[in-house]
Amino acid sequence: FEKIYRDEDVDMQILNGKVVAVIGYGSQGRAQSMNMRESGVQVIVGAGDRKRHSSWDKATADGFEVYTIEEAVKKADIVHILLQDPAQPPVYYESIHQHLRAGQTLSFAHGFAVLYGTIRPPEDIDVVLFVPNGPGPVTRQKYKDGSGIWGCVSVDQDVSGNALETALAIAKAVGSTRVGAVAMTFQHETEGDNYEEQVLYGGTIHLMRTMYNIMVKNGYPRSFAYAKAIRSIRSIIDDIDEVGIETYLTSRASRTCEFAVRHSGPRVINEEEMEKIFKETEAGIFARNWLQEFSLGMPTLNRMRRTWTESDMEQTGKIWREKFGK
Ligand code: NDP
Repeated sequence: FEKIYRDEDVDMQILNGKVVAVIGYGSQGRAQSMNMRESGVQVIVGAGDRKRHSSWDKATADGFEVYTIEEAVKKADIVHILLQDPAQPPVYYESIHQHLRAGQTLSFAHGFAVLYGTIRPPEDIDVVLFVPNGPGPVTRQKYKDGSGIWGCVSVDQDVSGNALETALAIAKAVGSTRVGAVAMTFQHETEGDNYEEQVLYGGTIHLMRTMYNIMVKNGYPRSFAYAKAIRSIRSIIDDIDEVGIETYLTSRASRTCEFAVRHSGPRVINEEEMEKIFKETEAGIFARNWLQEFSLGMPTLNRMRRTWTESDMEQTGKIWREKFGK
């Protein structure tokens, strides 16, 4: 089994006297900045123009020193880029690249821009990533609860010879190594993430929508179909996470459920398509499609957002949440 880094494996000394500039103060930016600060790291925030970007005021309200992105890069030893992915290349070439200097570390929370070459860092700096496996608010809450969120670290350029140690120290400061962080390549982090988004997130959400639609089409009450298609998954995930699939099936689920899972479950999955999506992701086709969609102003996403928001299932969900809360 590969090495899983825990708190005791990581020396935070490497961040002593160093300044981490967090660029972007959104979901990850806020959570990671606050966690690192509480772990004793010197954190400053780099934000876009105050008139157009709310990050500046948000980070100031949270007690951080906030600078323009250019200034923050100049003041930093570690430049931790937590901008949304498609926005990274223009911001990087406008405000970051020309201010980087030898000896600094450029750090990411996703390998997309480096893997696909939309950002090409200078050769005399370390390039690393640290990714918590969950959204910012969860990363923050877990840290406050004394726990953390599982994560991964990676090194793309190691000029100093200490790049992995720096990435691990960031992971520890954010709280990840309290539970565990694994080292992997930028390629696997990026493609694995994009594969997960397509098949796990995409598959699960489409499974819920399709199941709801079929039940309603066949005369079931909307509330019942909604509960079946969405609510049940909570307990399944929590149970499996706690005891594993086999114990869940043999001792927590009913025998009928166990038979249904083993007998009919595989028919729902199109393994051939899943393999195809994997190959397309590996070939960079998913990345190309997404970059093209973003550069065109997201016409497909905007169209889908509109029709999905108006869909019968979403309307039912709205009523459900009003009536029954969370
Ligand atoms: P968000 O969309 O939450 O935040 C993006 C930030 O980028 C905002 O603070 C926004 O500032 C800033 N920004 C966007 N465009 C510009 C611009 N032109 N100039 C200056 N600032 C800009 O992103 P996330 O936190 O979700 O993602 C950050 C990174 O973390 C990504 O690489 C992502 O892949 C990675 N990640 C995200 C996870 C998640 O679940 N969210 C999980 C693991 C990794 P403002 O609001 O002021 O405009």
